[in-house]
Amino acid sequence: MSQKHVYSFEFFPTKTDAGQEKLLSVARQFSACSPEFFSCTYGAGGSTRDRTLNTVLQLQNEVKVPAAPHLSCVGDSKDDLRGLLAEYKAAGIKRIVALRGDLPSGMGLVSGDLRHANDLVSFIREESGDHFYIEVAAYPEMHPQARNLEDDIANFVRKVKAGASSAITQYFFNADSYFYFVERVRKAGVEIPIVPGIMPITNYSKLARFSDACGAEIPRWIRKQLEAYNDDSASIQAFGEQVITEMCEKLLQGGAPSLHFYTLNQAEPSLAIWKNLESSR
Ligand code: FAD
Repeated sequence: MSQKHVYSFEFFPTKTDAGQEKLLSVARQFSACSPEFFSCTYGAGGSTRDRTLNTVLQLQNEVKVPAAPHLSCVGDSKDDLRGLLAEYKAAGIKRIVALRGDLPSGMGLVSGDLRHANDLVSFIREESGDHFYIEVAAYPEMHPQARNLEDDIANFVRKVKAGASSAITQYFFNADSYFYFVERVRKAGVEIPIVPGIMPITNYSKLARFSDACGAEIPRWIRKQLEAYNDDSASIQAFGEQVITEMCEKLLQGGAPSLHFYTLNQAEPSLAIWKNLESSR
């Protein structure tokens, strides 16, 4: 049997009690995968401040899996961030996903005291020393606002030098883009783990919209096949499960240190891939 695989799972904070109950029930199902950690997203500008905090506390204290809040710096002042870091530290949180964030349209241009994720990583290190294990974002297919790959990689290196412990990638559907990115950053002297972010495929139109916005490319052959299924959701899910399982196998065989699933608070799609990966070991 090959080496044990390591997984983590991401959630978003919900607005209702029913949504929160569902999130916790989904998280309990993932706890069977012995996750390294769960994470919970943060609405840039602090829009989910309390909900993100409550969710990580529930994940950690009730589901008994270490939980990492995402924290973004656009739209938040240093005082806001300092307060939140102190609350996380006091609550026994040890890991943070540090991001710049994207303010929702209508909230104006970038605001707040810190401009880029590297500023936030430096700030967390200044405020909390080595208390937090800091994850940052990486973009194998380039961040959509980057001028070019060289710039984007230089900016990624800046986050690592500021004190990042590990990185999670934006999702992608082409394993080679991940391998190429890892090769490039290793040549630039980066040694931290780069963990692929995995997005299960369950719905074509939502995925296409989201991928356009975040700069993740859906390869033509996948797009064409998903379009051909039209609204046959069972076929989309079966095809998506096979495509993503095969990509994950390739990533793990190629040396990916672990996999981080964007669950969208749904258990089945990520669990199905996890089961396939575990049964093929
Ligand atoms: P940065 O690293 O600051 O990069 C943003 C852009 O600026 C890039 O184009 C980069 O090349 C450039 N840049 C970086 N540093 C500099 C510099 N010093 N000088 C000049 N240019 C620079 N968003 C949320 O709002 N909430 C979340 O919870 C959330 N979770 C995420 C989790 C993961 C794993 C990922 C991959 C993304 C997540 N996002 C989240 C989205 C993220 O906030 C956006 O992709 C955002 O546009 C960039 O964030 P960043 O931390 O990568 O920014």
